[in-house]
Amino acid sequence: MTMEVALFGNPNTGKTSLFNMLTGSCEFIGNWNGVTVEKKIGHLKNHLGTLVDLPGIYALSPLSKDESVAASFLLKNTFTMAVNIVDASQLLRNFQLTIELLEFGKPVIIGLNMVDVAKHKGMIIDHEKLSGLLHVPVIPIVARTGRGCRLIQSAMEPGSSDNQEYFKLNYGHVIEKAIQKLNVLFENEKMDRRWLAIQYLLNNQVVVDYLNKRMEMTEAESVVHDVSDYLKIKNPHLTVSQWIRQKRKAYIEEIISAAVQTQASSKPDWSDKLDMIVTHKILGIPLFLIILYLIFHVTFYWIGNPLSDLLNSFFSGPLTDWTGKALEWLGVMPFIRDVILNGIIAGVGGVLVFVPQIFVLFFFISWIEDSGYMARVALIMDRIMQLAGLNGKAFIPLVIGFGCNIPGIMAARSIEQPRERLITILITPLMSCSARLTVFSLFAGIFFTHYQALVVLSLYVLSIVIAMIMARVFSLFMKNEQSVFVVELPPYHIPDIRTILRGTWEKARGFVKKATTFILGGTVMIWLLSYAGPEGIHVRIDQSYLALICMAIAPIVGPIGFGTWQAASGLITGFLAKEAVVSTFAVVYHGTGSGTLTQALSSAFTPLQAYSFMVFLLLYTPCISTVPNIKREAGSVKLTLFTIGYSMLLAYTVSFVVFHIGRLLGFQ
Ligand code: GDP
Ligand code: MG
Repeated sequence: MTMEVALFGNPNTGKTSLFNMLTGSCEFIGNWNGVTVEKKIGHLKNHLGTLVDLPGIYALSPLSKDESVAASFLLKNTFTMAVNIVDASQLLRNFQLTIELLEFGKPVIIGLNMVDVAKHKGMIIDHEKLSGLLHVPVIPIVARTGRGCRLIQSAMEPGSSDNQEYFKLNYGHVIEKAIQKLNVLFENEKMDRRWLAIQYLLNNQVVVDYLNKRMEMTEAESVVHDVSDYLKIKNPHLTVSQWIRQKRKAYIEEIISAAVQTQASSKPDWSDKLDMIVTHKILGIPLFLIILYLIFHVTFYWIGNPLSDLLNSFFSGPLTDWTGKALEWLGVMPFIRDVILNGIIAGVGGVLVFVPQIFVLFFFISWIEDSGYMARVALIMDRIMQLAGLNGKAFIPLVIGFGCNIPGIMAARSIEQPRERLITILITPLMSCSARLTVFSLFAGIFFTHYQALVVLSLYVLSIVIAMIMARVFSLFMKNEQSVFVVELPPYHIPDIRTILRGTWEKARGFVKKATTFILGGTVMIWLLSYAGPEGIHVRIDQSYLALICMAIAPIVGPIGFGTWQAASGLITGFLAKEAVVSTFAVVYHGTGSGTLTQALSSAFTPLQAYSFMVFLLLYTPCISTVPNIKREAGSVKLTLFTIGYSMLLAYTVSFVVFHIGRLLGFQ
């Protein structure tokens, strides 16, 4: 029998960490809420079946779109077993969901995660006692390091949960009576009817919709009315769901006091002190900028550039020579030789030389995410985001967007307010993704050799500033309530090297893959277009089809500083993928025949033109793979077209301003 095991738990409790351990996958782990926004499926390493990672939730009643994923999953009822990951250091809050899962009646295993953190806090948890009280296995684990995960796996073996006793919490006779009545009404349901009844009383929207579709609900509604009226007499301030939650809370407190002993807290006092500095009203943001600057500095000067240079000289030196010789020896047609040497190796190689920078940058970003610092940054950004009509929660998609805009746009699902969610989707494509970083690395390296880190930092800051301005503008047109951002500051920890390496790989992998597939194909196309023209093949490059097409566009971008057909060619392919700008330039400037790409570029652009070009590239149209994602997440073709259009106009305007202010200031 193949099993389907589902992971449930509050946000940020280590579900994805366990998922990666048990399936050998590399899903993204972040030390904050809202990272996993849709379910992920993996195969268990022990071949028992599949494991499903669900977004974190506090209760089964959904507040936001990603939360309804878990409730709907439960209703489909296809899984064989639930693993509930609870944060051992936050049992009071985590067990609320646990009770709802236990009531569902399917086999449950509780993974008591973060026992290391609990221990630090001075908590001693008697997991066997907990297990006895809840009638399910409770297994202490540390998902981050894999400790105890094997035990979870063996508890999943078929048959191990056969004798699980049904968990039943008594909600008092009024509610129990209502449950019984509903039970009778729901008699045709295959699902656990007690659970359905309780969820219905809790007014869980997913369950209400589900039932409404399946049966006539007037009688059930009147049952709810009756209980609610009756309970109002007892206490006018409490709703039915609040009654239920209170009962649960009392029960949870009872079992916690029976199974957990807390000694004097040993929370390090440096943590609060550090928080006072890093989340300081005035110091917080400059501090973050300094940290970013240092990261860029190390990325470029210490590690990235030297490695890139090595790679570059390898690609343009030995690799080109050897391949050339080999092709000659094999007697390959000169045409094919040209495609391979001047198209593929020059173009794709031109992109791949930036792999070191990208890995190093994402290594550091993963580091600050996992350490707990990024959640603090979201807190300080909250104040700024509020001015823009959003809140700190929207900062998370933006930061994810620095890796690649697509997962960033998807991460917006964790935002409850539809309006805020939509605005976040509209502005996330402005974030400087890893693909744009290749162009920045290339240009800043050539034109701003000594200020590379500063120039790239300025572009990242610009993307956030412009995004905030646009959010403000959009929010004027979309009236709605503004939600509050309740941050939980996760504990600081020394980042785990495996988590960081996985995170880095996760973010950078797509880049390598794209370079060797999509970019490769695109480069060959560009090369062909630059090889053929109206007058036949092997034409001079400025008489090729490519040049003719781009010459038509060049005058439009003239006023913002780079009206050559070569520059325009980069903008066209940049719409397909931003790193294609680099590969296109490698082909185009190679064909123009003025030495290396660096030499060709430095005579083709002035520093001011180069900066204006980077600004344009930063902001103009999201790349083609982002477009269907915007459409799916925003659910509208119009808004998708709008995003493409507005970002184009925005890019033009901002570049225009930058270029002309630069000229006024006396730059070339
Ligand atoms: P999810 O939101 O439930 O999927 O949680 P993640 O797997 O993304 O993990 C959230 C954070 O908790 C990450 O920073 C993990 O490295 C960290 N984490 C996960 N398990 C443990 C654990 O057992 N101990 C500690 N100290 N941290 C953990
Ligand atoms: Mg997760």
